[in-house]
Amino acid sequence: GEIPSSGLVSDYLAELHFRISHLSGGAVASYIPELAKADPKLCGIAIATIDGKTYSAGDADVEFTIQSVSKPFVYGYALERHGREAILQRVGVEPTGEAFNSIVLDEVHNRPFNPMVNAGAIAIAETIKGATPAERAQNMLTLFSRLAGRRLSIDEQVYRSELETGHRNRAIAYMMLNSGMIRRAPEDILDVYFRQCAVRVTARDLAVMAATLANDGVNPLSGERVIATEYVSDILTVMNTCGMYNYAGQWSYDVGIPAKSGVAGSILAVIPGQLGIAVFSPPIDQHGNSVRGVAACKEIAQDFRLNIFRSH
Ligand code: GLU
Repeated sequence: GEIPSSGLVSDYLAELHFRISHLSGGAVASYIPELAKADPKLCGIAIATIDGKTYSAGDADVEFTIQSVSKPFVYGYALERHGREAILQRVGVEPTGEAFNSIVLDEVHNRPFNPMVNAGAIAIAETIKGATPAERAQNMLTLFSRLAGRRLSIDEQVYRSELETGHRNRAIAYMMLNSGMIRRAPEDILDVYFRQCAVRVTARDLAVMAATLANDGVNPLSGERVIATEYVSDILTVMNTCGMYNYAGQWSYDVGIPAKSGVAGSILAVIPGQLGIAVFSPPIDQHGNSVRGVAACKEIAQDFRLNIFRSH
């Protein structure tokens, strides 16, 4: 499929937003106190094309924390920094069928199953360059700023909330230290991981980040190369198999677009060679995916025939 001319897309998104924003169901994430404060009525949709056009409707410029949607990008960064072979030794590419925060390693290889579950993402966070925690945080933030094409910041309250209550992630990190999967002090790695989850973005930012993947790693707004072309397909394939928590298989079957979602209520979806889609709306379903986000993506995929597994 293809996206039609500009005016049509704007009208389409406005109409879609109107219907989607009335959907009920789901609940705002409450695993940390800060996220429980989110306004469940917020709903924003954005599309960015590889030729640098952006379209949006609703609350597309409201900031929220990126959470797990950060994971595919740091994975790409790690691949570029250390190469495929070294990273594959640390983190696999198999879906788990377990919860995203499960404390389970692949027994055969003694490594996290994939980079989209917390264990894998924490192991990947160790690869962020820098001699001090502050330098690593800065490099991480620079990566996301380049992906979004604007200077991003960290939500300090959400970061603190994660730091104070993230004992399960702490347990995962210590377990990986025990098995030799991570080498640095767990608290150091968790610090950058929690900050990574707390980067503030808008739906428009996520659409641009998705379009950067769709555009083989070049941000279509800034023209800057952010991810090496050769690793974009690694990122998209793990998104396709593991990006939507334990709904990933059904999502791929129904929608057929590599995507990643996060607990703050956002979904980022990539149509390679064409465009990026992002939806933000805080109420999430039992899998952890935004209820309105799933509904909006399904409609967009169907209406513009974007399923990558269909040739017509
Ligand atoms: N910061 C969250 C955690 O590590 C990320 C959750 C998510 O978006 O899946 O628990």
